[in-house]
Amino acid sequence: MQRDLPIAIAGAGLGGLVTALALAREGFSRIDVYERSPVLAEVGAGLTVGPNSSRPLIDLGLGPGLAARADAPSAGMTRHWRTARVLMNSLRGRALLDKYGAPYYLIHRADLLDLLVEGCAAQPAVHIHTGHALQSVAQDGDGVTLGFEHGVTARAAVLIGCDGVKSVVRREAFVGDAPQFSGYIAWRALLPVERPEHKLDPPAQLFIGTDHMFMRYHVRHGALTNVVAIARARDAAWTEEGWTIPSTVAELASHYTGWHEDIIAAIQRIPESQCFKWAIHVRPPLPTWCAGRIALAGDAAHPMTPFMGMGAAMAIEDGVVLARSLALRPTLDDALATYQSLRKPRADFVQTESAKRGLRLMGSDPDSYGQSREVSEDTLGLFAYDAMNVVPTG
Ligand SMILES: Cc1cc2nc3c(=O)[nH]c(=O)nc-3n(C[C@H](O)[C@H](O)[C@H](O)COP(=O)(O)OP(=O)(O)OC[C@H]3O[C@@H](n4cnc5c(N)ncnc54)[C@H](O)[C@@H]3O)c2cc1C
Repeated sequence: MQRDLPIAIAGAGLGGLVTALALAREGFSRIDVYERSPVLAEVGAGLTVGPNSSRPLIDLGLGPGLAARADAPSAGMTRHWRTARVLMNSLRGRALLDKYGAPYYLIHRADLLDLLVEGCAAQPAVHIHTGHALQSVAQDGDGVTLGFEHGVTARAAVLIGCDGVKSVVRREAFVGDAPQFSGYIAWRALLPVERPEHKLDPPAQLFIGTDHMFMRYHVRHGALTNVVAIARARDAAWTEEGWTIPSTVAELASHYTGWHEDIIAAIQRIPESQCFKWAIHVRPPLPTWCAGRIALAGDAAHPMTPFMGMGAAMAIEDGVVLARSLALRPTLDDALATYQSLRKPRADFVQTESAKRGLRLMGSDPDSYGQSREVSEDTLGLFAYDAMNVVPTG
C-alpha cells in the first residue's frame, strides 16, 4: 500500500503506540495517534511480556530499553492458597529464552509505555495528539472523518481503533454492543520492597484457591511487588469497569480470610491509597474486525480475561501484523483482509483459552491442581508466535 497515505490511530495505549511505531518502521510517512487523556500515562501495575511480545518489541528497536527496565524472572510457581504447597513450576528465565529465542519479562506498565513513547518520539512520522477524545467516525470513498468531543475533526485514509474495551470506533463503525461483566472482580496494588522478608523467591508466585487467585511478582529490579488479586464475584450487583476505582484493604482482605500467612501479610502491607479494584469486562468475538477503511486492534477488537496474561501481547501482535500487512500487501482491502485472517483466529483462540484457564485456576479442587498436565501459554505454543514474520509478501 502507498506509504504516504495518512493513517489515524484512536488510543495511545500499549496497542496504539506499538501500531504507530511499527507503521513508522515500515516507512509510512504520516501517522496521527489521538488519545483521550490529557497526558500519556499508564496505571501503576505490572505486565507480563512473554517471548511472543518481547520478540516484536525487540524487532521494533526496544531491546536495550526492555533489557534495562524489565525483569527476567528465573522461575515462576503456582502455590496452594492455604498451605503454600507448590502445585506447579513454570518454565521461565534461561530455559524459556533457550526454548523460544526471546526473553520472558515482567515490567511496570508505565515503563513499557515510556519506552514506546520514546520510540515514537524518535520517528518524525508519528504525531501524538493528547486530549482528543474520539466521539464519532464516518467513512466515505476517500477516507475517514474523525470527530472529537471538543469539536475538532480530522481526516485520514485509514483508521485503526486501539481505543480499548469501551472502544468508540467499535461502537461507531461495527456493533453497538456493550462490554459484558466477566464475573470476576480484580484488585491491584504495588508494594515497596523494603525488608529482606518482602523479597519473593522465586520472584513470580501465583496462589490459587476456589473462586480466588492472588498473583505477586517483582518489577523494577525487585524494588516493587506487583499484586493482582482476582475473585469470582459473589455479588454481581457491583460491576464497575475501570483501572482507578478505589477499594479498601479491609474489603480486599475480606475475600482472603484463611489464606496463607504470606498472602495475609502482603494484603496488610498495601497502602490504603494504593488499593484499586475493578470488574473485568469482556466482549464476545466479533464476526469481523475490518470495515472499509477501518480496522480494530487490541482490546477494542477482543478484550479478554487476564488468566493467560496475553491481552497486551495480543494488542502488540495485532499492531505489528497490521503494520506489516499495510506495508506488504498491494491494496488496502487486501491488507485488512490479510490482517484479519492472520489475527482473528489466534485472538479468538486466546480469548477462549484464557476464560478456560480462569475456571481451572479457581476451580473447586485446588489440591489436585497440577496433577494433570497444565494447559498454559507455554504448552499451547502461544510464546512461539513471530508477529514480524507472518505476513506473506507478493
Ligand atoms: C488484571 C489484568 C492484568 C493483566 N495483565 C496482563 C499481562 O500481564 N500481560 C498482558 O499481555 N496483558 C495483560 N492484561 C491485558 C492488558 O492490560 C490489555 O489487554 C491491554 O492493555 C490492551 O491494550 P490496548 O492498547 O488495546 O487498550 P488500552 O490499554 O485500554 O488502551 C486504550 C487507549 O485508548 C484510549 N481511549 C479510550 N477511548 C478513547 C477515545 N474515545 N478517544 C481517544 N482515546 C481513547 C485510552 O485512554 C487508552 O490510552 C491484563 C489485564 C487485566 C485486567
